[in-house]
Amino acid sequence: NLTEKFERAFKVLKGQGQITEINVAETLKEVRRALLDADVNFKTAKEFTNTVKEKALGRDVLTAVSPGQLMTKILHEELVNLMGGEEVELKYQGNPGIILMSGLQGSGKTTFSGKLANFLKNKKGKNPLLVACDVYRPAAIDQLHVLGEQLGVEVYSNKEEKNPVKIAEAAIQHAKSKGFNVVIVDTAGRLAIDEQMMNEIADVKNAIKPTETLFVVDSMTGQDAVNTAKAFNDRIDFDGVVLTKLDGDTRGGAALTIKTVVDKPIKFVGTGEKMEALDVFYPKRMADRILGMGDVVSLVERAQEQFDEEEARKLQKKIQKNQFDFNDFLGQLQQIKKMGNVKDLMGMIPGMGKALKGVEIEDDAFKHIEAIILSMSPLERENPAVIDGSRKKRIAKGSGTNIQEVNKLLKQFQDTRKMMKMMSNKKNMMSMMKQMK
Ligand code: GDP
Ligand code: MG
Repeated sequence: NLTEKFERAFKVLKGQGQITEINVAETLKEVRRALLDADVNFKTAKEFTNTVKEKALGRDVLTAVSPGQLMTKILHEELVNLMGGEEVELKYQGNPGIILMSGLQGSGKTTFSGKLANFLKNKKGKNPLLVACDVYRPAAIDQLHVLGEQLGVEVYSNKEEKNPVKIAEAAIQHAKSKGFNVVIVDTAGRLAIDEQMMNEIADVKNAIKPTETLFVVDSMTGQDAVNTAKAFNDRIDFDGVVLTKLDGDTRGGAALTIKTVVDKPIKFVGTGEKMEALDVFYPKRMADRILGMGDVVSLVERAQEQFDEEEARKLQKKIQKNQFDFNDFLGQLQQIKKMGNVKDLMGMIPGMGKALKGVEIEDDAFKHIEAIILSMSPLERENPAVIDGSRKKRIAKGSGTNIQEVNKLLKQFQDTRKMMKMMSNKKNMMSMMKQMK
């Protein structure tokens, strides 16, 4: 599946110190292949990987984050953009609000109509009316009645009437007089796109002026789903998309491509046959799901929030000139602390849990170190060499520690500084932290 393929793509980047043209090319080739396999069309896949490449090459790798993780983050951002960025809410307000379904037969319109009625009733406190407008298949009308009964939602139908426009109009009158505040109009579909079906749905739309027209599509149909979406959108200009059967062995490509092709947001996804199997569509969550790396993404986000790149560059310079001092040290400690519980943070990095076994990172240890540094005067922080016996005594007292601890920190600091200079080409937060145990 797509997630596994992306994971494979990132293997290439593991262990690399920097994102370069060369190591990114291989990864992006894999990403593109994964997208094509998922039925994303060629043009979208190509544009997508080009954007990711531009962003990746322009970005500095943060201390706390590996290139692979940064790539994951960039890929995540671009997947979110591809799927429309922010979620777009269904418009269901009105007197009554009117929701019209469109889509091919078997796409899941009737099932979704039931799910939506259930959602609006239980999650939004609405009083919905379901309307059966499939005039060709009496069984479809019965299907909606069964769902309505199960949900405790009234279903309006008229088996004698063969004009869907008349049924829909009568249903809206009924809703007004009986106090239903949302009307959900289920319609007939056909097995393939045809003129008559399009005319019929367009006529209903013109007559009842829905608050929202939804296009329901089976996500398992891959590239066909996208073509069908385009045909429907050209003819009836719908407002949003419902992707059904996302629980099945779907390749997910439809979710990634539809927005680009018709420029209409996906609003809901169906994830099963049960009435509860409905999710509001959040591009961010879908990207999480596709990448299957939600933890890494949020780790990178937190690291980025807290880590000013300008600061990082200044620090790098100081390390190279061996000018790294206790102020910088304190700054680093505070950065790490801001990012949250140190152990949790490290645990989020794949493979890190094991690597950290035996390495003790106590939040308490940080507290002592911080207290000692805070008890130093500005001069002492900048120039630790001036710290003599009497200064040590004062610092120990001020920080509520003892001379031994102060000595230990000073020694660690000297070692760290040496080591940082040594490693200044591939500076790494981890090395610093290991020094502090
Ligand atoms: P319609 O012809 O567009 O009204 O489609 P239906 O609502 O009758 O659905 C066709 C079939 O797809 C039915 O067997 C539904 O149970 C099934 N179905 C609909 N939505 C989903 C979904 O999200 N997941 C799964 N697994 N099945 C679904
Ligand atoms: Mg139906």
